[in-house]
Amino acid sequence: MSTLEIRDLQVSVKLPEGDLKPILAGVDLTVKSGETHAIMGPNGSGKSTLAYSIAGHPKYEITGGTVTLDGDNVLDMTVDERARAGLFLAMQYPVEVPGVSVANFLRTAKTAVDGEAPKLRTWAGELRKAMEQLQMDPAFAQRNVNEGFSGGEKKRHEIMQLELLKPKMAILDETDSGLDIDALRVVSEGVNRVRETGDTGLLLITHYTRILRYIKPDFVHVFVAGKIVQEGGPELAEQLEAEGYERYVGARV
Ligand code: ADP
Ligand code: MG
Ligand code: MG
Repeated sequence: MSTLEIRDLQVSVKLPEGDLKPILAGVDLTVKSGETHAIMGPNGSGKSTLAYSIAGHPKYEITGGTVTLDGDNVLDMTVDERARAGLFLAMQYPVEVPGVSVANFLRTAKTAVDGEAPKLRTWAGELRKAMEQLQMDPAFAQRNVNEGFSGGEKKRHEIMQLELLKPKMAILDETDSGLDIDALRVVSEGVNRVRETGDTGLLLITHYTRILRYIKPDFVHVFVAGKIVQEGGPELAEQLEAEGYERYVGARV
């Protein structure tokens, strides 16, 4: 059992002139393995900033608060150390990795995370199965990472990493964006398989409610202007689908 604990997290983005623009205004969130949380909020509310901050993106400066994974200080770790500690953050991986095939990339990532290379025989089978389940052409494994990938292929690759790396905590930022309905279903099924293992805590960040028709969150957090303004169960997502974010944004501004 693992716990990701975010306490009073305050984050500013570093602007090109060197100024700091405050974005996160004190975020509190606890995610345990086996739980699925959805963070939902309007565009520009700071959802990606939260994901990037936990990933260790250099553009974001932590100005207050803590993030721990099973008591260990995540904010002190390098990006690699975060991955080895069991955090999966899709955006930590480069947009394109020239000359590195999907198969090699996944094997290298698996080796880095586990501290030992996966067994050759079982690994090939696992890879094949993951690709089959995500309805990917086997030839995909030989393509270079993210080179010319369509939006759907990028997301499938992201979920393939998630299924093969088996992290303690996974943060998926806008995994639903740009997917047609078939790809959304395939990707959601992958997330649900990970969920059903009970070993991974999932934090789904999304603006829209449609992915939550396929993946039922245990907890929903409404995120507005850099903080969580309301929390509830799956019924809160349904309410947001019907009413939008108007009343939160209106109340705040
Ligand atoms: P969301 O993911 O909820 O749409 P973001 O975290 O992307 O929100 O952005 C939150 C706010 O921070 C926005 O006002 C955005 O313009 C600002 N912001 C984020 N990153 C940067 C950046 N690199 N430079 C300037 N402003 C930024
Ligand atoms: Mg909780
Ligand atoms: Mg975003």
